[in-house]
Amino acid sequence: MTGSFSAGSTGHPRCAEVAGAGFAGLTVSIALARRGWTVRLHEQNDEVRDFGAGILLWRNAMLALEVIGVAPAIRANGVAPATYDTSLNGEPVSSELAGYPYWAITRPRLHALLVAAARAAGVEIVTGSRAVGADPEGGLLLADGTRLAADLVIGADGAGSAVRNSLGDLTQERKKYQDGVCRVLIPRPEEFQGPEWDRVIDFWTLEPDPMRILFIPTGPDKIYMGMMATTTNERASRIPIDVEVWSERFPHLATAVRLAGRAEGGRHDTYQTNRVTPWSIGQAVLVGDAAHAMCPALGQGASVGIVNAVELAHTLDQYDDVGEALTVWEQRERSMTDAAQARSAYMAETRTLAKGSGFTPEVMETANFVLAAATPENVASYPVPEANRSW
Ligand SMILES: Cc1cc2nc3c(=O)[nH]c(=O)nc-3n(C[C@H](O)[C@H](O)[C@H](O)COP(=O)(O)OP(=O)(O)OC[C@H]3O[C@@H](n4cnc5c(N)ncnc54)[C@H](O)[C@@H]3O)c2cc1C
Repeated sequence: MTGSFSAGSTGHPRCAEVAGAGFAGLTVSIALARRGWTVRLHEQNDEVRDFGAGILLWRNAMLALEVIGVAPAIRANGVAPATYDTSLNGEPVSSELAGYPYWAITRPRLHALLVAAARAAGVEIVTGSRAVGADPEGGLLLADGTRLAADLVIGADGAGSAVRNSLGDLTQERKKYQDGVCRVLIPRPEEFQGPEWDRVIDFWTLEPDPMRILFIPTGPDKIYMGMMATTTNERASRIPIDVEVWSERFPHLATAVRLAGRAEGGRHDTYQTNRVTPWSIGQAVLVGDAAHAMCPALGQGASVGIVNAVELAHTLDQYDDVGEALTVWEQRERSMTDAAQARSAYMAETRTLAKGSGFTPEVMETANFVLAAATPENVASYPVPEANRSW
């Protein structure tokens, strides 16, 4: 090991073929290209874009995004929530995370920032290019029958990953959960204007069945609403939002629910997770949801994927042997990732966040994770309030 091997031991730039231009695929592509790799990123859709709701990016993700130079634009385009407040049956139960460094942003904006950074780093993005598999010798197999040879092939093609499913020696545990979420972006009405509304509010009711509205301002003109219910509650699992059923349970949010009913471009997803072992075989590796889709209860799925993507490029830089780098990388990231998956599954199953004061030091371990690629200056610029430290 040691030294920087971005040019490989032959002196030629190393090359990667990446499947999937979601948050994980874009991040790993940027991180590798900035370290001298030649990177081609394949997206099955004819356009590179993410659909229109919002996302929370925790401190772990922001540190990773600092490494690839995208964090300043996120800070400029997103909202740093003042607190994370929880309300049960219309009554406040806790206010947490005051001063904790995390951001909310719309998904299209985050995606556009990553696409711009990828192009600036020299990544070649090929749209309408569908991967059907990969081989451990570093080949990416496309739907048109082409095999592209690379030093590393990366499956970043999401929870249903064709790349992962083609690599028979990886074991998978997949699970579907009882809950689903409708996600919409609404315009920010007059009554939710002002800095006092720049906070996350997690509204719950548990009887007769659990329903939840996660209210996240993502900028001066947009609020992201994540509306969770069990899939057996069919009316609450519909897009467009069923205004009657949601405002009956959340009468104090009637204005926002009405706007959610008119929102365009919303979608409903059920929770599904997968745990893959190991994350790589030969010169083929998985990042993001392809490797470790998790319940959204912790809001950490993309954040952990972004961290692991940046760490992958950092580790590859330190070894001339790709296989050795992949082993070291997985050893570094595995326990943090497994813990995040297990914790978010527990939180989804027990609905523990509804009680308030859910961001215990143990729960904050994922958000507080510091990647090896982060500089001490970056780490120092995201200080963690004493109350939220997990150390
Ligand atoms: C309700 C909900 C709320 C969430 N909230 C948060 C949050 O607040 N914070 C957070 O960090 N995470 C959150 N997550 C998790 C987060 O959305 C995912 O972890 C993240 O989007 C996964 O990114 P990805 O790039 O791995 O995969 P994806 O986003 O699925 O991207 C995969 C890309 O690959 C493309 N693709 C697929 N198959 C192929 C193929 N065969 N060939 C070529 N291209 C292909 C797709 O078109 C897509 O562009 C949430 C998830 C849910 C369901």
